[in-house]
Amino acid sequence: MPGPLRVCALYPDLMNIYADRGNLTVLERRCSWRGIGFQMSSSGLGEQLDPDAHELFYIGGGQDRDQRLCAQDLIETKRAALHAAAARGALVLGVCGGYQLLGHSYTLDTEEIPGVGLLDVRTVRDDGPRLIGNIAIEVTLDAQRPHVLAGFENHGGRTQLGPGQRPLGRVLKGHGNDGRSGLEGALSANTIGTYLHGPLLPKNVWFADWLIARALGIDPAELAPLQDAIERQTHESARRAAGV
Ligand code: GLN
Repeated sequence: MPGPLRVCALYPDLMNIYADRGNLTVLERRCSWRGIGFQMSSSGLGEQLDPDAHELFYIGGGQDRDQRLCAQDLIETKRAALHAAAARGALVLGVCGGYQLLGHSYTLDTEEIPGVGLLDVRTVRDDGPRLIGNIAIEVTLDAQRPHVLAGFENHGGRTQLGPGQRPLGRVLKGHGNDGRSGLEGALSANTIGTYLHGPLLPKNVWFADWLIARALGIDPAELAPLQDAIERQTHESARRAAGV
């Protein structure tokens, strides 16, 4: 049995709106049901990160004021370790505010909050309406057939991808990165950013399994199948909510 999967939640108290912590529970349950060891730790303000101690780093969504605090701490105490972890193949997943902080910057009025720069994206807080609602995107990972991710988005920031930056997916319904480009999220090697809360993984367990497999360095097809009748209904209902 591969594993254990060692997950580090970054700022779980500050970066956790829309119950983003449900994403971590899904990872834990799906590992445990398969007999895969799971270890969860967290890293908050002022705490150092060991780049070799985790296969997956997770950062959820946050209010602007909490994001500001975390952004400063990310730069001061965790930036180098996160880059080292990503370079050795660890996965980094950021949701909404967490996604914004994985990019180069988040600009609020005249203030530019620097991010860790693992994704080539820049986000600007717009005066226009917040981009809110159910969302579904089409995602193609590795050589897999396209899959749908469904969730809920609520962000004031508009995110632009740099010239070589791959999006995570194509918007089927909803706003995505900026409400205009038809693109959602960003994916670079092992770093993934998305605006989908939902929470993301309870509504899309196929993606939870992809993350588990990728973090453990195995093929998703090698994971033992689970009885996913309720999870499939959850996914269908999230898709219906988005109109897909
Ligand atoms: N504060 C950020 C924004 O409004 C992120 C919000 C969130 O994480 N939902 O764009």
